[in-house]
Amino acid sequence: MSRHEGVSCDSCLKSNFNGRRYKCLICYDYDLCADCYEEGVTSTRHLVEHPMQCILTRSDIELYFGGEMLTSDQPQSFTCPYCKKMGFSDATLLEHVSAEHTETSLEVVCPVCAGLPGGDPNLVTDDFAGHLTLEHRQGPRELISFLISFSKHLRIFHYL
Ligand SMILES: [Zn+2]
Ligand SMILES: [Zn+2]
Ligand SMILES: [Zn+2]
Ligand SMILES: [Zn+2]
Repeated sequence: MSRHEGVSCDSCLKSNFNGRRYKCLICYDYDLCADCYEEGVTSTRHLVEHPMQCILTRSDIELYFGGEMLTSDQPQSFTCPYCKKMGFSDATLLEHVSAEHTETSLEVVCPVCAGLPGGDPNLVTDDFAGHLTLEHRQGPRELISFLISFSKHLRIFHYL
């Protein structure tokens, strides 16, 4: 999968685009292509201050991480939907949110669900810390099965 199938940029309306995709963690179902993100586009609901999660396509993940991805535990880095800090894994994001954002009940889109292959791209929760604990504490299952199929794919590749 080299394109974001079924996703269109909410600014330039380009659909099934390639490359990085940015998903707003505040606005429901608001995605931008890399070009629009870099231009800092806004809309009546979307503000440039909104935290956004960078989502890679499967082929980009393979391209960026290659075989190293098998030893790294996080192919994606997550953005905190409350303070825009980037570079969290699902585990460090949970630590961060439970340490820094326990008082907030703002509805946000889960960046972990959004970033996972096969995850729910628009999972909105007003209890993000609870959601992380419940759904992502054990490590994302989708990701693990993705890694397993990816390593099988690599092995086949080696035998050729
Ligand atoms: Zn665009
Ligand atoms: Zn937004
Ligand atoms: Zn934060
Ligand atoms: Zn989630």
